[in-house]
Amino acid sequence: MTADAAPRVYGAVVDAATRCIHFHSELDIVAIKFACCLRYYPCFQCHDETVQLEATPHATRRWPEADWSSTAILCGACHHQTSIATYRQVERCPHCAAEFNPGCRLHAHLYFEETAG
Ligand SMILES: [Zn+2]
Ligand SMILES: [Zn+2]
Ligand SMILES: [Zn+2]
Repeated sequence: MTADAAPRVYGAVVDAATRCIHFHSELDIVAIKFACCLRYYPCFQCHDETVQLEATPHATRRWPEADWSSTAILCGACHHQTSIATYRQVERCPHCAAEFNPGCRLHAHLYFEETAG
């Protein structure tokens, strides 16, 4: 088996584990693909700042629940990609068992359209 080619991660990435200038604690190793441009960014701030600099900025689109089976989560430790649905059920990478930041859940609504209630 060949190693997965790691997808490019955009934004203010500071290391190979996809930490960025905004979120760079030990556990901040996840990059998220945005539904609007299908690019991986370490965080919503990276997405916003990068988009603002583009010739034609676009509005951030979140993943509707119907699309949560999409592969849109990148583990910065092993560069394995996983689905949103899986990511929302685990506390560690299902591939390499690296711990994910539980604090990310506070920001989940910025990436995923959660149905109210
Ligand atoms: Zn976008
Ligand atoms: Zn960032
Ligand atoms: Zn991993």
